[in-house]
Amino acid sequence: MKLIDGKAVAAEIRGELRLRAEAFETKHGKKIGLAVVVIGEDPASQIYVRNKIKACEDVGISSSVLRLPADIAASEAESALKKLAADKNIHGILLQLPVPPHLNADKLLSLIPTEKDVDGFSAENIGKLALNRAETVACTPLGVMELLKRYDVCLGGKKAVVIGRSNIVGRPMALLLLNADATVTVCHSHTKNLKAECLTADILISAVGKANFVMADMVKEGAVVIDVGMNRDPDGKLCGDVDFDSVKEKASLLTPVPGGVGPMTVAMLLRNVVAAAERSER
Ligand code: NAP
Repeated sequence: MKLIDGKAVAAEIRGELRLRAEAFETKHGKKIGLAVVVIGEDPASQIYVRNKIKACEDVGISSSVLRLPADIAASEAESALKKLAADKNIHGILLQLPVPPHLNADKLLSLIPTEKDVDGFSAENIGKLALNRAETVACTPLGVMELLKRYDVCLGGKKAVVIGRSNIVGRPMALLLLNADATVTVCHSHTKNLKAECLTADILISAVGKANFVMADMVKEGAVVIDVGMNRDPDGKLCGDVDFDSVKEKASLLTPVPGGVGPMTVAMLLRNVVAAAERSER
């Protein structure tokens, strides 16, 4: 089994992006700009936002965080997003989810113009992906595709099984694999014989959110296994969905957690921001 080193690939991509960000600044006399909107005090969001800001600094993207109070009126949150939407120095806007329950996340997301939707969550961007005309794709599945590419995993005609169908991971993941000519099966909590489905997979991608969910008896000999899950084990240690120790005996390529898909999500966010800025000046 060969380990997929997401940390190393992400570092390589950040190096490439640093050069693109520098070239943008030289050509247009301004930095690439990302705005992150955080509403309320969700503790996990604070950590995610800090990591994103640090990553932006690392590649030379100027980032700003707009912190809005948890009890903000919907109309005020909407005006704040509209202001960022109109700002020519902001090339990407992230609305950190979840938002407080009195706000409508879909309504707020719809105020981010498609060209600044660097998370790829807008209905238009998801529609374009479904039509195989994607410009901006959700960062986590895009990161998985980049790992498969950089590890020379050929997808054409291969059988791919995705466990999970969320709008941010499983669903766009399945569309990307389909667009890359794989034969794709999407499994979810209503799937009848999950083990049998998984055993057909040349490429198995798990995005469920349960530790030790994928065991060795669900993996075909020689399969490529990508673990998107981010869970805590009973000792509080970060782990994925895949039982790493048993599955490593079967898989030909396997992502660890941490150090697999996670670092790629951030790298793809940065790449989406750089690409959005470059497109805006075309
Ligand atoms: P989610 O919205 O909770 O979706 C989980 C999916 O798993 C659902 O589609 C669900 O099916 C399916 N599922 C649950 N139990 C199942 C079962 N017993 N058999 C088959 N399918 C089952 O989660 P998510 O947002 O997609 O995230 C998935 C995992 O990826 C989480 O651990 C999350 O932390 C992680 N994640 C990691 C990154 C990263 O950067 N590495 C980024 C995003 C997410 P139904 O649709 O039928 O309910």
